[in-house]
Amino acid sequence: MEIKRIPALSDNYIFLLYDLDKKVAAVVDPAEAEPVLQYLKKINVELIAIFNTHHHFDHVGGNRKLIEHFPNLCVYGGAEDKGRIPGQQVFLQEDDTVKFADRLGQVFFVPGHTRAHIAYYFAPTTEGETGELFCGDTLFAGGCGRLFEGTPAQMVNSLSKLRTLPDSTRVWCAHEYTLKNLQFALTVDKDNTDLQNRYARVKKARTQGIATVPSLLGVEKLTNPFLRWDTASLQAATGNQEPARVFGRLRQMKDRF
Ligand code: ZN
Ligand code: FE
Repeated sequence: MEIKRIPALSDNYIFLLYDLDKKVAAVVDPAEAEPVLQYLKKINVELIAIFNTHHHFDHVGGNRKLIEHFPNLCVYGGAEDKGRIPGQQVFLQEDDTVKFADRLGQVFFVPGHTRAHIAYYFAPTTEGETGELFCGDTLFAGGCGRLFEGTPAQMVNSLSKLRTLPDSTRVWCAHEYTLKNLQFALTVDKDNTDLQNRYARVKKARTQGIATVPSLLGVEKLTNPFLRWDTASLQAATGNQEPARVFGRLRQMKDRF
């Protein structure tokens, strides 16, 4: 399984999973159809699935047009998103699996950004392969999604699930928000040298127009304040120890940043 990152709209990423031997592809969160269709044509494969993480327009905006082009494709999304994802045919719950090419994707139910949000995790199947996490707007590189339909406690629970995955997991999040996220992170975790180093790397990359997605989950665990509610520095910065309170306060501060 290969993965192509396709920039879309102003700061979205669409991810195309494809297998050139089997000549098939699946797309994660097609914000728009056109760039996906162009790339499919270029590599000459058929689109057989859309994996949606949640119903927001910048994640499902391309569904209709892609279905028109590939009437046989299958649209997957969270069970709780029933009625909100165009063309949805499969309603996924925690621990369900999806199949693409020779890989199995495990579904995590990760409410918080929306009440129905899911993430897909493709575990490595052979030595040398990496785990791939498609987490939509739940976990971002250096940050996390806003709480539109959920509570801090829910989001902590959701992020706790993702945090248990191996450090080598690649995090394919749906937006290029990394630089701004790390600027905020530095205001609450300024003595974190891993964070300082990451910020320097990301700043340089963005100056050169290089994407910062995917990131590594191991790096997120060390530098993303929204995965670090149980560290002394973030507890001090928020004046709390209870995970949902630490997280809730951080989210509030970020919303105003
Ligand atoms: Zn969203
Ligand atoms: Fe989004």
